[in-house]
Amino acid sequence: MKFNETLKDITLYEAGKPIELVVREFGIELGKVVKLASNENPLGTPPSVAKVLSEYSAKAHLYPDDSMYELKESLAKKYEVDPKEIIIGAGSDQVLEFISRSLLSSNDSVLMSKVTFAMYEIYAKQMGAKTIRTPSFVHKVDEFISYYKEHKPKIVYLCIPNNPVGDCLSKKEAFEIIEAIDSDTLVVVDGAYMEYAAYKNKDYLITPQDTLKYDNVIYLGTFSKAYGLGGMRVGYGIAKSTLIKEIAKMRPPFNITSLSLAAAVEALKAEEFLEETCKLHFEQIVRYEEFAKNNNIEYIDSYTNFITYMFDDSYNSTVIADALLKQGVIIRNLASYGLNAIRITIGTKKQNDRFFDSFLPLLKR
Ligand SMILES: *Cc1c(COP(=O)(O)O)cnc(C)c1O
Repeated sequence: MKFNETLKDITLYEAGKPIELVVREFGIELGKVVKLASNENPLGTPPSVAKVLSEYSAKAHLYPDDSMYELKESLAKKYEVDPKEIIIGAGSDQVLEFISRSLLSSNDSVLMSKVTFAMYEIYAKQMGAKTIRTPSFVHKVDEFISYYKEHKPKIVYLCIPNNPVGDCLSKKEAFEIIEAIDSDTLVVVDGAYMEYAAYKNKDYLITPQDTLKYDNVIYLGTFSKAYGLGGMRVGYGIAKSTLIKEIAKMRPPFNITSLSLAAAVEALKAEEFLEETCKLHFEQIVRYEEFAKNNNIEYIDSYTNFITYMFDDSYNSTVIADALLKQGVIIRNLASYGLNAIRITIGTKKQNDRFFDSFLPLLKR
């Protein structure tokens, strides 16, 4: 069978390893495995959401509300936008896919940072489009503007804050880039970790209100990270209704389960949980910064719920990641991104203790 030419060049997305795999492969007790690999919320799911989920079985035989009325109303209220300016995806990943499929063909290119979310390139490749990357592994305003002018890409991806590096453009910097881009190019502002950046420094908060001032910008948000719903698969895009109407043509019917819709509506109400999540995170990330300083490990100042440790030649991130895995500690090796680095999702105090206890003996003194 002859598959599309475009598939030749695509490498599969490497997802964080599930806890069960470590139990199976290394024979470690379930309760002893610590997963700090996929930027999930270490506090779990808001208790109010867990309650809604347990009550939902009575409606499982009915198709979901394909208009997603309730969730769109809730998001519209939160962000003070019109429900027509919202599209819901099975994770913001699916919104990225809709965007790519509705805009790209093999003559097009997309622009992104040297090291950023892997799916931008995979979705571009599926459409046969070319990926152009700025030279630095953190987002730099002048690089984005000059590369945009030189290559005239169809889409510019701004990952604010940036996964898997942790760097973040300030609001002012982001809009310097957006201002320089003309209306034929879509700018994607991927705010998957925006809740953390805003908590750290309010000058970094970008809202859909801000991006809606431009016809060619879409803001993406997700319930998978700070809201603690990674397993539910709900994300959203917010942009001018004319833009949303076009990309919605790529949406399959009933793409979000009723269970996930209900969970997301409930999660939006759980403001205390969000506050508690950010508070815990910023208390704990300090320990990772201190640890790095004490052990001469380079790290990137993080605006996300993870930290990235960069190694010099005396360490190999793959060896470190494997050695941690054998002890039941799952983190993310960034070798596939071309970095000799590891990304650790900040966990609870206890989980972080486990990481430090397992990691310290691996360091040469
Ligand atoms: C996690 C993540 C997403 C999307 O996650 P979903 O679970 O698909 O909503 C999007 N962008 C970045 C940068 C992410 O880290």
